Amino acid sequence: MTIHELLQQARQRLLKAPGLTPDDQHNADREAQILLAHALDCRRSYLLAYPELEPTDGKQRDFRVLVDKRCHGEPVAYLVGQREFYGLALEVDEAVLIPRPETELLVEQALSLLPENSRVADLGTGSGAIAVALAKLRRGSHIVATDACARALNLARKNAARHRLVNIEFHQGYWLDALPRSLEPLDMIVSNPPYVAAGDRHLSQGDCRFEPAMALTPGGDGICALQHIIAHAPAYLRPAGWLLLEHGYDQPDAVQALFAQGPWDNIQTIRDLAGQPRVSLACHAPGG
Ligand code: GLN
Repeated sequence: MTIHELLQQARQRLLKAPGLTPDDQHNADREAQILLAHALDCRRSYLLAYPELEPTDGKQRDFRVLVDKRCHGEPVAYLVGQREFYGLALEVDEAVLIPRPETELLVEQALSLLPENSRVADLGTGSGAIAVALAKLRRGSHIVATDACARALNLARKNAARHRLVNIEFHQGYWLDALPRSLEPLDMIVSNPPYVAAGDRHLSQGDCRFEPAMALTPGGDGICALQHIIAHAPAYLRPAGWLLLEHGYDQPDAVQALFAQGPWDNIQTIRDLAGQPRVSLACHAPGG
C-alpha cells in the first residue's frame, strides 16, 4: 500500500474505534500521520510530500500495530514516546503524566515572576516538563526537581540531558520531604500535583485511563496533595518567595481558602486558555 492508502485506512479505523473519544476522532487525520511518521522514522511533511511511496511490509506492519493500539485508546504520546511541551520535545512513557497544554500556563506565570539567578523547586516533576522548561528559559537559575517515583525521575533526568541542561538537580521523595535538608531558602516552588477527585468520571476516559493513577489523583476529593504542599512550603521559601500550583477547574476556592490561612499574601488565581481557573499563586509573607 502507498503512504496515502495507509493513511486513509488508518483514518477510517480510528474514526470507528470504540476506545476513542469524539475529540480524539476529530484528530484522526493528524494522529494517523503522527503514527505513520513514527513507524517510518520520518517527518509528517515527508508523508504529505511523497504520498505515492510504498513503505516496506515490515514498516506497514509496525504502523498497523500502532494503529491497533491507538484504536484501543493507548495515548499517542506513549505510542511515539514523545510529547511537546512549551516548544520542547520531551520523552514520555507510562511512568509519567503526559504533559498538558494547560500546564504551560504554570510555566508562563513562573517565568513572569522569576528574576534571573533564582532557586526554584518543581515538586512531582514527572517527565520533568516544568523543570526542564524553566531551566531552559532561565539558564542562570537553579532548579531542584523531585518525584516519589524513581522511574519518573530517571525519565526527567533524561529529558534534562536531552536539552543539555546542567542547572537542574533531582531528588526522590514525597513533595517537600524530598528536598535536601541543607537547601538554602527557595525563591519559588511550583507544582502540578495530582488533584483529580478519586471517583471523577474523567479518570476512566481518554489518555487518563493509561496514565499513572498516582500522578492524577491523590484520592478523596483531590485536594490533599495541594493542601500538603501549601502547608509545608513556607518552611522552604524565603520571605516574598512564590508558590505556584496547578489545580482543577473546580478547586480555586478551596486552594484560595488554604492560602488564606497564611502565611501568604498576593493570592491570585489565573485562568487557562479554555477559560478555566487553573493556576493559583501566593507570596510567602511570614509574620505579615
Ligand atoms: N489536568 C489533568 C487532567 O485533567 C490532571 C493533572 C493532574 O492531576 N495534575 O487530566
